[in-house]
Amino acid sequence: MSTHAALTVPTIGELSIPTGLFINNEFRASSSGQTVPTINPANGETLLEVSHASQEDVDEAVRAARKAFETAWGNNVQASERGALLNKLADLMERDAEKLAALESLDSGKGIRIVREIDLPDSVACLRYYAGLADKFFGQTIPHFGKDKFVYTIHQPIGVCGQIIPWNYPLLMWAWKVAPALAAGCCIVMKPSELTPLSALYMCQLVKEAGIPAGVFNTVPGLGATTGDAISRHMDIDKVAFTGSVMTGRRISIAAAESNLKKVTLELGGKSPSLIFESANIEEAADWSALGIWFNSGQDCTAGSRIYVHESIYETFIAALKKKAEACAIGQAGLFVCSSDYDETTSFGPLISEAQRDKVLGYISSGVDEGARLVAGGKKWSKSGNGYWVEPTIIADVKPHFKVVQEEIFGPVVVISKFSTESEALTLANSSTFGLAAAVHTNDARQAMRVTAALDAGTVWCNQYGMLHPGVPFGGFKMSGVGRELGTYGLEAYTQVKAVHQNL
Ligand code: NAD
Repeated sequence: MSTHAALTVPTIGELSIPTGLFINNEFRASSSGQTVPTINPANGETLLEVSHASQEDVDEAVRAARKAFETAWGNNVQASERGALLNKLADLMERDAEKLAALESLDSGKGIRIVREIDLPDSVACLRYYAGLADKFFGQTIPHFGKDKFVYTIHQPIGVCGQIIPWNYPLLMWAWKVAPALAAGCCIVMKPSELTPLSALYMCQLVKEAGIPAGVFNTVPGLGATTGDAISRHMDIDKVAFTGSVMTGRRISIAAAESNLKKVTLELGGKSPSLIFESANIEEAADWSALGIWFNSGQDCTAGSRIYVHESIYETFIAALKKKAEACAIGQAGLFVCSSDYDETTSFGPLISEAQRDKVLGYISSGVDEGARLVAGGKKWSKSGNGYWVEPTIIADVKPHFKVVQEEIFGPVVVISKFSTESEALTLANSSTFGLAAAVHTNDARQAMRVTAALDAGTVWCNQYGMLHPGVPFGGFKMSGVGRELGTYGLEAYTQVKAVHQNL
Protein backbone atom coordinates (compact mmCIF):
# COMPACT_ATOMS: atom_id res chain seq x y z
CA MET A 1 0.00 0.00 0.00
CA SER A 2 1.03 3.60 -0.43
CA THR A 3 3.39 5.12 2.09
CA HIS A 4 2.35 8.63 1.10
CA ALA A 5 -0.16 10.60 3.10
CA ALA A 6 -3.50 11.30 1.46
CA LEU A 7 -3.66 14.78 -0.06
CA THR A 8 -6.10 17.43 0.90
CA VAL A 9 -7.73 18.25 -2.37
CA PRO A 10 -9.96 21.32 -2.55
CA THR A 11 -13.65 20.63 -2.94
CA ILE A 12 -15.20 21.53 -6.21
CA GLY A 13 -16.84 24.54 -4.49
CA GLU A 14 -13.50 25.82 -3.24
CA LEU A 15 -12.12 25.64 -6.76
CA SER A 16 -14.89 28.02 -7.97
CA ILE A 17 -15.16 26.77 -11.52
CA PRO A 18 -17.18 28.71 -14.04
CA THR A 19 -19.92 26.54 -15.51
CA GLY A 20 -21.17 28.69 -18.36
CA LEU A 21 -20.26 29.32 -21.96
CA PHE A 22 -17.21 31.47 -22.68
CA ILE A 23 -17.77 33.90 -25.54
CA ASN A 24 -15.88 37.15 -26.18
CA ASN A 25 -13.88 36.56 -22.97
CA GLU A 26 -17.06 36.55 -20.83
CA PHE A 27 -18.90 33.70 -19.13
CA ARG A 28 -22.65 33.39 -19.43
CA ALA A 29 -25.41 30.78 -19.20
CA SER A 30 -26.71 29.06 -22.30
CA SER A 31 -29.64 30.69 -24.09
CA SER A 32 -31.77 27.59 -23.48
CA GLY A 33 -31.01 27.49 -19.75
CA GLN A 34 -30.24 23.76 -20.11
CA THR A 35 -27.41 22.11 -18.17
CA VAL A 36 -25.55 18.78 -18.24
CA PRO A 37 -24.21 17.18 -15.02
CA THR A 38 -20.56 16.19 -14.79
CA ILE A 39 -19.80 13.22 -12.55
CA ASN A 40 -16.78 12.11 -10.51
CA PRO A 41 -16.06 8.59 -11.81
CA ALA A 42 -14.28 7.65 -8.58
CA ASN A 43 -17.50 7.81 -6.56
CA GLY A 44 -20.38 8.37 -8.98
CA GLU A 45 -21.31 11.74 -7.46
CA THR A 46 -22.33 14.76 -9.50
CA LEU A 47 -19.69 17.47 -9.31
CA LEU A 48 -21.45 20.31 -11.09
CA GLU A 49 -24.13 21.18 -13.62
CA VAL A 50 -22.57 22.78 -16.71
CA SER A 51 -24.38 24.92 -19.30
CA HIS A 52 -25.42 23.22 -22.48
CA ALA A 53 -24.80 25.41 -25.53
CA SER A 54 -27.62 25.63 -28.06
CA GLN A 55 -27.42 26.27 -31.80
CA GLU A 56 -27.92 30.03 -31.09
CA ASP A 57 -25.04 29.96 -28.61
CA VAL A 58 -22.77 28.28 -31.17
CA ASP A 59 -23.80 30.91 -33.72
CA GLU A 60 -22.87 33.67 -31.29
CA ALA A 61 -19.50 32.06 -30.51
CA VAL A 62 -18.75 31.76 -34.23
CA ARG A 63 -19.67 35.42 -34.80
CA ALA A 64 -17.31 36.43 -31.98
CA ALA A 65 -14.54 34.28 -33.43
CA ARG A 66 -15.02 35.62 -36.95
CA LYS A 67 -14.92 39.23 -35.77
CA ALA A 68 -11.76 38.57 -33.73
CA PHE A 69 -10.15 36.83 -36.70
CA GLU A 70 -10.81 39.84 -38.92
CA THR A 71 -9.81 42.52 -36.42
CA ALA A 72 -7.68 41.23 -33.56
CA TRP A 73 -5.95 37.99 -34.51
CA GLY A 74 -4.82 36.17 -37.63
CA ASN A 75 -2.74 38.49 -39.76
CA ASN A 76 -3.52 41.43 -37.44
CA VAL A 77 -1.04 40.16 -34.85
CA GLN A 78 2.59 39.27 -35.40
CA ALA A 79 3.37 35.60 -35.04
CA SER A 80 5.90 36.34 -32.29
CA GLU A 81 3.15 38.13 -30.32
CA ARG A 82 0.90 35.09 -30.61
CA GLY A 83 3.80 32.97 -29.37
CA ALA A 84 4.34 35.33 -26.41
CA LEU A 85 0.67 35.04 -25.42
CA LEU A 86 0.88 31.24 -25.58
CA ASN A 87 3.93 31.35 -23.30
CA LYS A 88 1.99 33.57 -20.90
CA LEU A 89 -0.84 31.04 -20.91
CA ALA A 90 1.67 28.28 -20.14
CA ASP A 91 3.02 30.38 -17.23
CA LEU A 92 -0.50 30.71 -15.82
CA MET A 93 -1.08 26.97 -16.12
CA GLU A 94 2.08 26.39 -14.13
CA ARG A 95 0.99 28.94 -11.52
CA ASP A 96 -2.40 27.17 -11.16
CA ALA A 97 -1.05 23.65 -11.60
CA GLU A 98 -2.37 22.35 -8.28
CA LYS A 99 -5.89 23.64 -8.93
CA LEU A 100 -5.89 22.27 -12.46
CA ALA A 101 -4.56 18.92 -11.27
CA ALA A 102 -7.25 18.63 -8.61
CA LEU A 103 -9.93 19.57 -11.08
CA GLU A 104 -8.78 17.18 -13.78
CA SER A 105 -8.49 14.39 -11.25
CA LEU A 106 -12.00 14.96 -9.83
CA ASP A 107 -13.61 15.24 -13.24
CA SER A 108 -11.82 12.44 -15.12
CA GLY A 109 -10.92 10.03 -12.27
CA LYS A 110 -7.21 10.15 -13.11
CA GLY A 111 -4.80 9.88 -10.22
CA ILE A 112 -3.72 13.34 -9.16
CA ARG A 113 -0.07 12.34 -9.33
CA ILE A 114 -0.47 11.35 -12.96
CA VAL A 115 -2.10 14.66 -13.82
CA ARG A 116 0.64 16.55 -12.01
CA GLU A 117 3.49 14.57 -13.52
CA ILE A 118 2.20 13.84 -17.00
CA ASP A 119 -0.98 15.54 -18.23
CA LEU A 120 -0.13 18.99 -16.91
CA PRO A 121 3.55 19.24 -17.85
CA ASP A 122 2.81 17.69 -21.25
CA SER A 123 0.06 20.28 -21.83
CA VAL A 124 2.38 23.11 -20.81
CA ALA A 125 5.12 21.69 -23.04
CA CYS A 126 2.73 21.65 -25.98
CA LEU A 127 1.83 25.31 -25.44
CA ARG A 128 5.50 26.26 -25.19
CA TYR A 129 6.46 24.21 -28.25
CA TYR A 130 3.93 26.06 -30.41
CA ALA A 131 4.78 29.38 -28.74
CA GLY A 132 8.31 28.85 -30.05
CA LEU A 133 7.23 27.59 -33.45
CA ALA A 134 4.74 30.39 -34.15
CA ASP A 135 7.29 32.71 -35.84
CA LYS A 136 9.47 29.97 -37.29
CA PHE A 137 7.01 28.48 -39.71
CA PHE A 138 6.86 30.00 -43.18
CA GLY A 139 6.58 29.27 -46.85
CA GLN A 140 9.04 28.73 -49.68
CA THR A 141 10.49 30.67 -52.57
CA ILE A 142 10.37 28.67 -55.79
CA PRO A 143 12.78 30.16 -58.35
CA HIS A 144 12.20 27.76 -61.23
CA PHE A 145 10.71 30.07 -63.83
CA GLY A 146 13.52 32.22 -65.21
CA LYS A 147 15.22 35.40 -63.96
CA ASP A 148 12.17 37.68 -64.04
CA LYS A 149 9.60 35.34 -62.58
CA PHE A 150 9.39 33.59 -59.26
CA VAL A 151 6.84 32.06 -56.97
CA TYR A 152 6.55 32.15 -53.23
CA THR A 153 4.16 30.47 -50.86
CA ILE A 154 2.45 31.97 -47.82
CA HIS A 155 0.91 29.95 -44.99
CA GLN A 156 -2.25 31.79 -43.98
CA PRO A 157 -4.32 30.88 -40.94
CA ILE A 158 -7.38 28.87 -41.96
CA GLY A 159 -9.76 31.13 -40.03
CA VAL A 160 -12.39 30.06 -37.49
CA CYS A 161 -11.88 26.52 -36.22
CA GLY A 162 -14.27 24.27 -34.32
CA GLN A 163 -12.47 21.94 -31.93
CA ILE A 164 -14.22 18.93 -30.39
CA ILE A 165 -12.30 16.92 -27.79
CA PRO A 166 -12.82 13.70 -25.76
CA TRP A 167 -12.76 12.85 -22.05
CA ASN A 168 -9.72 10.62 -21.71
CA TYR A 169 -7.09 13.41 -21.65
CA PRO A 170 -9.24 16.52 -21.29
CA LEU A 171 -6.47 19.01 -20.59
CA LEU A 172 -3.85 17.50 -22.87
CA MET A 173 -6.27 17.24 -25.82
CA TRP A 174 -7.23 20.87 -25.15
CA ALA A 175 -3.56 21.86 -25.40
CA TRP A 176 -2.94 19.74 -28.52
CA LYS A 177 -5.83 21.52 -30.26
CA VAL A 178 -5.55 25.07 -28.93
CA ALA A 179 -1.79 25.64 -29.08
CA PRO A 180 -1.19 25.07 -32.83
CA ALA A 181 -4.44 26.82 -33.79
CA LEU A 182 -3.59 29.99 -31.84
CA ALA A 183 0.03 29.88 -32.98
CA ALA A 184 -1.14 29.70 -36.61
CA GLY A 185 -3.46 32.69 -36.08
CA CYS A 186 -6.80 30.87 -36.07
CA CYS A 187 -9.74 31.69 -33.81
CA ILE A 188 -11.46 28.90 -31.92
CA VAL A 189 -14.86 27.59 -30.91
CA MET A 190 -14.03 24.75 -28.52
CA LYS A 191 -16.38 22.02 -27.29
CA PRO A 192 -14.99 19.90 -24.45
CA SER A 193 -16.50 16.50 -23.72
CA GLU A 194 -19.70 16.69 -21.71
CA LEU A 195 -18.13 14.07 -19.41
CA THR A 196 -15.09 16.22 -18.49
CA PRO A 197 -15.68 19.92 -19.20
CA LEU A 198 -14.14 21.40 -16.04
CA SER A 199 -10.46 21.84 -16.88
CA ALA A 200 -11.44 23.35 -20.25
CA LEU A 201 -13.71 25.83 -18.45
CA TYR A 202 -10.96 26.69 -15.98
CA MET A 203 -8.61 27.35 -18.89
CA CYS A 204 -11.02 30.00 -20.24
CA GLN A 205 -10.22 32.16 -17.21
CA LEU A 206 -6.52 31.80 -17.92
CA VAL A 207 -6.98 32.62 -21.61
CA LYS A 208 -8.56 35.93 -20.57
CA GLU A 209 -5.94 36.61 -17.91
CA ALA A 210 -3.14 35.90 -20.40
CA GLY A 211 -4.42 38.79 -22.50
CA ILE A 212 -5.63 36.85 -25.53
CA PRO A 213 -8.07 39.25 -27.21
CA ALA A 214 -11.82 38.78 -26.77
CA GLY A 215 -13.40 36.43 -29.30
CA VAL A 216 -10.16 34.66 -30.25
CA PHE A 217 -10.95 31.69 -28.03
CA ASN A 218 -14.52 30.66 -27.17
CA THR A 219 -15.91 27.61 -25.41
CA VAL A 220 -19.35 26.05 -25.88
CA PRO A 221 -19.82 23.08 -23.55
CA GLY A 222 -22.60 20.67 -24.43
CA LEU A 223 -23.62 17.31 -25.83
CA GLY A 224 -22.11 15.94 -29.01
CA ALA A 225 -25.29 15.31 -30.94
CA THR A 226 -26.46 18.91 -30.50
CA THR A 227 -23.62 21.34 -29.69
CA GLY A 228 -21.00 19.21 -31.48
CA ASP A 229 -23.22 18.77 -34.52
CA ALA A 230 -23.93 22.53 -34.63
CA ILE A 231 -20.16 23.13 -34.85
CA SER A 232 -19.59 20.46 -37.51
CA ARG A 233 -22.40 21.82 -39.71
CA HIS A 234 -21.73 25.51 -39.19
CA MET A 235 -21.47 27.41 -42.46
CA ASP A 236 -19.01 29.96 -41.07
CA ILE A 237 -16.55 27.55 -39.48
CA ASP A 238 -13.59 26.90 -41.79
CA LYS A 239 -12.19 23.78 -40.15
CA VAL A 240 -13.16 21.26 -37.53
CA ALA A 241 -10.51 19.39 -35.56
CA PHE A 242 -11.77 16.35 -33.71
CA THR A 243 -10.46 13.70 -31.35
CA GLY A 244 -12.78 10.87 -30.39
CA SER A 245 -14.39 7.72 -31.68
CA VAL A 246 -14.54 6.49 -35.28
CA MET A 247 -18.34 6.66 -35.25
CA THR A 248 -18.33 10.33 -34.27
CA GLY A 249 -15.46 11.11 -36.64
CA ARG A 250 -17.52 9.72 -39.49
CA ARG A 251 -20.55 11.81 -38.46
CA ILE A 252 -18.44 14.95 -38.28
CA SER A 253 -16.95 14.28 -41.74
CA ILE A 254 -20.43 13.86 -43.19
CA ALA A 255 -21.71 17.03 -41.48
CA ALA A 256 -18.67 18.96 -42.71
CA ALA A 257 -19.15 17.68 -46.26
CA GLU A 258 -22.88 18.40 -46.24
CA SER A 259 -22.42 21.97 -45.03
CA ASN A 260 -19.55 24.11 -46.35
CA LEU A 261 -17.00 21.33 -47.03
CA LYS A 262 -14.95 22.67 -44.12
CA LYS A 263 -11.55 21.10 -43.63
CA VAL A 264 -11.49 18.19 -41.18
CA THR A 265 -8.76 16.57 -39.13
CA LEU A 266 -9.64 13.47 -37.18
CA GLU A 267 -7.75 11.66 -34.42
CA LEU A 268 -9.73 8.50 -33.86
CA GLY A 269 -9.48 5.15 -32.14
CA GLY A 270 -6.97 2.35 -32.17
CA LYS A 271 -6.36 -1.32 -31.47
CA SER A 272 -2.61 -1.08 -31.26
CA PRO A 273 -0.55 -4.28 -31.53
CA SER A 274 2.69 -5.11 -29.68
CA LEU A 275 4.95 -7.78 -31.19
CA ILE A 276 7.19 -9.61 -28.73
CA PHE A 277 9.92 -11.53 -30.56
CA GLU A 278 12.02 -14.38 -29.16
CA SER A 279 15.10 -12.18 -28.64
CA ALA A 280 13.20 -9.61 -26.55
CA ASN A 281 13.99 -8.98 -22.92
CA ILE A 282 10.81 -10.50 -21.50
CA GLU A 283 10.75 -8.55 -18.23
CA GLU A 284 11.22 -5.22 -20.03
CA ALA A 285 8.65 -6.11 -22.68
CA ALA A 286 6.16 -6.98 -19.91
CA ASP A 287 6.85 -3.65 -18.17
CA TRP A 288 6.27 -1.64 -21.33
CA SER A 289 3.22 -3.72 -22.24
CA ALA A 290 1.73 -3.13 -18.77
CA LEU A 291 2.25 0.59 -19.21
CA GLY A 292 0.82 0.34 -22.72
CA ILE A 293 -2.47 -1.20 -21.63
CA TRP A 294 -2.99 -0.08 -18.04
CA PHE A 295 -1.91 3.54 -18.21
CA ASN A 296 -5.05 5.68 -17.90
CA SER A 297 -6.85 2.37 -17.24
CA GLY A 298 -6.66 1.53 -20.93
CA GLN A 299 -8.72 4.59 -21.88
CA ASP A 300 -6.12 5.61 -24.36
CA CYS A 301 -6.37 5.76 -28.13
CA THR A 302 -2.86 4.28 -28.34
CA ALA A 303 -3.49 1.57 -25.70
CA GLY A 304 -1.42 -1.51 -26.50
CA SER A 305 -4.49 -3.69 -26.47
CA ARG A 306 -3.33 -6.59 -28.69
CA ILE A 307 -0.14 -8.47 -27.90
CA TYR A 308 1.38 -11.10 -30.19
CA VAL A 309 4.15 -13.20 -28.64
CA HIS A 310 6.58 -15.63 -30.24
CA GLU A 311 5.49 -19.20 -29.39
CA SER A 312 8.83 -19.99 -27.70
CA ILE A 313 8.27 -17.36 -24.98
CA TYR A 314 4.47 -17.24 -24.96
CA GLU A 315 3.73 -18.66 -21.50
CA THR A 316 6.78 -16.99 -19.90
CA PHE A 317 5.65 -13.60 -21.17
CA ILE A 318 2.05 -14.16 -20.03
CA ALA A 319 3.30 -15.09 -16.55
CA ALA A 320 5.44 -11.91 -16.41
CA LEU A 321 2.53 -9.71 -17.49
CA LYS A 322 0.19 -11.46 -15.05
CA LYS A 323 2.53 -10.50 -12.21
CA LYS A 324 2.23 -6.86 -13.26
CA ALA A 325 -1.57 -7.12 -13.30
CA GLU A 326 -1.59 -8.65 -9.83
CA ALA A 327 0.79 -6.01 -8.46
CA CYS A 328 -1.58 -3.46 -9.82
CA ALA A 329 -4.61 -5.20 -8.40
CA ILE A 330 -3.27 -5.47 -4.86
CA GLY A 331 -2.11 -1.86 -4.84
CA GLN A 332 1.64 -2.25 -4.35
CA ALA A 333 3.71 0.87 -4.73
CA GLY A 334 4.72 1.59 -8.27
CA LEU A 335 3.13 3.05 -11.30
CA PHE A 336 -0.16 1.21 -11.06
CA VAL A 337 -1.56 1.82 -7.62
CA CYS A 338 -5.24 2.09 -7.02
CA SER A 339 -7.01 4.27 -4.55
CA SER A 340 -10.27 6.11 -4.80
CA ASP A 341 -8.86 8.70 -2.37
CA TYR A 342 -6.58 11.40 -3.63
CA ASP A 343 -3.47 9.57 -2.68
CA GLU A 344 -0.11 10.75 -4.05
CA THR A 345 0.57 7.43 -5.73
CA THR A 346 -2.86 6.82 -7.16
CA SER A 347 -2.62 6.17 -10.85
CA PHE A 348 -4.86 3.31 -11.88
CA GLY A 349 -8.09 5.23 -12.07
CA PRO A 350 -11.69 4.24 -12.71
CA LEU A 351 -13.33 4.14 -16.11
CA ILE A 352 -15.05 7.35 -17.08
CA SER A 353 -18.66 6.24 -16.55
CA GLU A 354 -20.89 3.42 -15.44
CA ALA A 355 -21.85 2.81 -19.06
CA GLN A 356 -18.18 2.53 -20.08
CA ARG A 357 -17.49 0.13 -17.19
CA ASP A 358 -20.41 -2.10 -18.18
CA LYS A 359 -19.34 -2.02 -21.83
CA VAL A 360 -15.83 -3.15 -20.86
CA LEU A 361 -17.19 -5.97 -18.65
CA GLY A 362 -19.38 -7.03 -21.59
CA TYR A 363 -16.30 -7.28 -23.83
CA ILE A 364 -14.53 -9.46 -21.24
CA SER A 365 -17.52 -11.83 -21.10
CA SER A 366 -17.66 -11.99 -24.89
CA GLY A 367 -13.98 -12.98 -25.06
CA VAL A 368 -14.48 -15.77 -22.53
CA ASP A 369 -17.68 -16.91 -24.26
CA GLU A 370 -15.83 -17.13 -27.58
CA GLY A 371 -13.32 -19.49 -25.97
CA ALA A 372 -10.42 -17.32 -24.74
CA ARG A 373 -8.51 -17.94 -21.48
CA LEU A 374 -9.00 -15.37 -18.70
CA VAL A 375 -5.53 -15.01 -17.17
CA ALA A 376 -6.04 -12.05 -14.84
CA GLY A 377 -8.77 -9.68 -13.69
CA GLY A 378 -12.09 -9.75 -15.49
CA LYS A 379 -14.34 -8.18 -12.86
CA LYS A 380 -15.37 -4.93 -11.27
CA TRP A 381 -12.72 -4.01 -8.79
CA SER A 382 -13.86 -5.07 -5.33
CA LYS A 383 -12.34 -1.90 -3.81
CA SER A 384 -14.34 0.31 -6.17
CA GLY A 385 -17.18 1.43 -3.90
CA ASN A 386 -19.44 3.45 -6.15
CA GLY A 387 -16.57 4.21 -8.53
CA TYR A 388 -16.26 2.67 -11.98
CA TRP A 389 -13.08 0.56 -11.71
CA VAL A 390 -12.46 -2.65 -13.67
CA GLU A 391 -9.55 -4.92 -12.74
CA PRO A 392 -6.49 -5.01 -14.99
CA THR A 393 -7.45 -7.85 -17.29
CA ILE A 394 -5.51 -10.27 -19.51
CA ILE A 395 -7.28 -12.50 -22.02
CA ALA A 396 -5.06 -15.07 -23.74
CA ASP A 397 -5.38 -17.57 -26.62
CA VAL A 398 -7.63 -15.26 -28.63
CA LYS A 399 -8.38 -15.87 -32.31
CA PRO A 400 -8.20 -13.07 -34.92
CA HIS A 401 -11.99 -13.01 -35.49
CA PHE A 402 -12.92 -12.56 -31.80
CA LYS A 403 -14.76 -9.33 -31.01
CA VAL A 404 -12.16 -8.52 -28.33
CA VAL A 405 -9.45 -8.66 -31.00
CA GLN A 406 -11.31 -6.64 -33.63
CA GLU A 407 -12.93 -3.84 -31.61
CA GLU A 408 -11.54 -1.05 -29.47
CA ILE A 409 -12.48 -1.85 -25.85
CA PHE A 410 -11.18 1.39 -24.27
CA GLY A 411 -10.61 -0.23 -20.91
CA PRO A 412 -7.86 -2.10 -19.02
CA VAL A 413 -8.18 -5.26 -21.13
CA VAL A 414 -5.38 -6.76 -23.20
CA VAL A 415 -5.72 -9.73 -25.55
CA ILE A 416 -2.79 -12.04 -26.30
CA SER A 417 -2.03 -14.74 -28.84
CA LYS A 418 1.07 -16.41 -30.25
CA PHE A 419 2.85 -16.50 -33.59
CA SER A 420 5.63 -18.62 -35.05
CA THR A 421 7.16 -16.46 -37.84
CA GLU A 422 7.86 -12.76 -38.37
CA SER A 423 5.57 -12.64 -41.37
CA GLU A 424 2.73 -14.25 -39.41
CA ALA A 425 3.26 -11.67 -36.65
CA LEU A 426 3.03 -8.83 -39.17
CA THR A 427 -0.09 -10.27 -40.80
CA LEU A 428 -1.78 -10.53 -37.40
CA ALA A 429 -0.68 -7.04 -36.34
CA ASN A 430 -1.83 -5.41 -39.58
CA SER A 431 -5.19 -7.26 -39.68
CA SER A 432 -7.10 -4.37 -38.21
CA THR A 433 -9.18 -1.51 -39.49
CA PHE A 434 -7.15 0.72 -37.14
CA GLY A 435 -3.59 1.96 -37.58
CA LEU A 436 -2.78 4.40 -34.81
CA ALA A 437 0.22 2.91 -32.98
CA ALA A 438 2.24 -0.30 -32.62
CA ALA A 439 5.20 -1.62 -30.65
CA VAL A 440 8.02 -4.04 -31.43
CA HIS A 441 10.14 -5.76 -28.79
CA THR A 442 13.27 -7.39 -30.14
CA ASN A 443 17.01 -7.33 -29.62
CA ASP A 444 17.65 -8.04 -33.31
CA ALA A 445 18.38 -4.64 -34.88
CA ARG A 446 17.70 -5.73 -38.45
CA GLN A 447 14.42 -7.28 -37.42
CA ALA A 448 13.52 -4.05 -35.62
CA MET A 449 14.11 -2.05 -38.82
CA ARG A 450 12.18 -4.54 -40.99
CA VAL A 451 9.19 -4.83 -38.69
CA THR A 452 8.83 -1.14 -37.80
CA ALA A 453 8.86 -0.37 -41.54
CA ALA A 454 6.18 -2.97 -42.28
CA LEU A 455 3.69 -2.09 -39.55
CA ASP A 456 0.59 -0.10 -40.59
CA ALA A 457 0.66 2.55 -37.86
CA GLY A 458 1.19 6.28 -37.50
CA THR A 459 3.48 5.76 -34.50
CA VAL A 460 5.73 2.73 -33.87
CA TRP A 461 7.63 2.27 -30.61
CA CYS A 462 10.61 -0.05 -30.53
CA ASN A 463 11.49 -1.61 -27.14
CA GLN A 464 9.33 0.96 -25.36
CA TYR A 465 5.76 2.23 -25.28
CA GLY A 466 3.74 5.41 -25.13
CA MET A 467 6.36 8.11 -25.70
CA LEU A 468 4.85 11.25 -27.23
CA HIS A 469 6.33 14.70 -27.67
CA PRO A 470 4.83 17.94 -29.00
CA GLY A 471 7.55 18.06 -31.69
CA VAL A 472 6.74 14.58 -33.04
CA PRO A 473 3.80 14.16 -35.43
CA PHE A 474 0.94 12.02 -34.23
CA GLY A 475 -1.99 10.51 -36.12
CA GLY A 476 -3.44 7.41 -37.64
CA PHE A 477 -3.21 5.15 -40.65
CA LYS A 478 -6.46 3.59 -41.91
CA MET A 479 -9.56 4.31 -39.78
CA SER A 480 -7.50 5.78 -36.95
CA GLY A 481 -7.63 9.22 -38.44
CA VAL A 482 -7.20 11.87 -41.07
CA GLY A 483 -4.27 14.29 -40.88
CA ARG A 484 -1.63 14.76 -38.19
CA GLU A 485 -1.32 16.68 -34.97
CA LEU A 486 1.83 17.92 -33.22
CA GLY A 487 5.15 18.95 -34.74
CA THR A 488 5.26 21.23 -37.75
CA TYR A 489 2.53 19.09 -39.37
CA GLY A 490 0.21 20.08 -36.52
CA LEU A 491 0.78 23.79 -37.19
CA GLU A 492 0.49 23.38 -40.94
CA ALA A 493 -2.92 21.77 -40.40
CA TYR A 494 -4.22 25.16 -39.18
CA THR A 495 -2.93 27.00 -42.23
CA GLN A 496 -3.69 27.09 -45.91
CA VAL A 497 -1.02 27.61 -48.51
CA LYS A 498 -1.22 30.39 -51.04
CA ALA A 499 1.14 30.32 -54.05
CA VAL A 500 1.94 33.81 -55.36
CA HIS A 501 3.34 34.09 -58.92
CA GLN A 502 5.45 37.22 -59.45
CA ASN A 503 6.31 38.60 -62.87
CA LEU A 504 9.04 41.20 -62.55
P1 NAD B 1 -16.80 10.39 -28.71
O1 NAD B 1 -16.62 10.30 -30.15
O2 NAD B 1 -18.02 9.79 -28.12
O3 NAD B 1 -16.81 11.92 -28.21
C1 NAD B 1 -15.75 12.79 -28.49
C2 NAD B 1 -16.29 14.19 -28.58
O4 NAD B 1 -17.17 14.25 -29.68
C3 NAD B 1 -17.08 14.65 -27.36
O5 NAD B 1 -16.81 16.00 -27.12
C4 NAD B 1 -18.52 14.47 -27.82
O6 NAD B 1 -19.42 15.31 -27.17
C5 NAD B 1 -18.40 14.82 -29.29
N1 NAD B 1 -19.47 14.28 -30.13
C6 NAD B 1 -20.20 13.15 -29.94
N2 NAD B 1 -21.10 13.00 -30.94
C7 NAD B 1 -20.92 14.06 -31.78
C8 NAD B 1 -21.53 14.46 -33.02
N3 NAD B 1 -22.51 13.75 -33.57
N4 NAD B 1 -21.07 15.56 -33.62
C9 NAD B 1 -20.08 16.30 -33.08
N5 NAD B 1 -19.46 15.97 -31.91
C10 NAD B 1 -19.89 14.87 -31.27
O7 NAD B 1 -15.49 9.82 -28.12
P2 NAD B 1 -15.14 9.67 -26.59
O8 NAD B 1 -15.96 8.52 -26.10
O9 NAD B 1 -15.24 10.97 -25.92
O10 NAD B 1 -13.58 9.30 -26.67
C11 NAD B 1 -13.18 8.01 -26.84
C12 NAD B 1 -12.72 7.76 -28.25
O11 NAD B 1 -11.79 8.74 -28.64
C13 NAD B 1 -12.01 6.44 -28.43
O12 NAD B 1 -12.44 5.81 -29.59
C14 NAD B 1 -10.55 6.82 -28.56
O13 NAD B 1 -9.74 5.92 -29.20
C15 NAD B 1 -10.64 8.13 -29.23
N6 NAD B 1 -9.48 8.96 -28.95
C16 NAD B 1 -8.58 9.13 -29.95
C17 NAD B 1 -7.44 9.90 -29.74
C18 NAD B 1 -6.45 10.14 -30.84
O14 NAD B 1 -5.67 11.07 -30.76
N7 NAD B 1 -6.43 9.37 -31.90
C19 NAD B 1 -7.21 10.48 -28.49
C20 NAD B 1 -8.15 10.27 -27.48
C21 NAD B 1 -9.30 9.51 -27.75
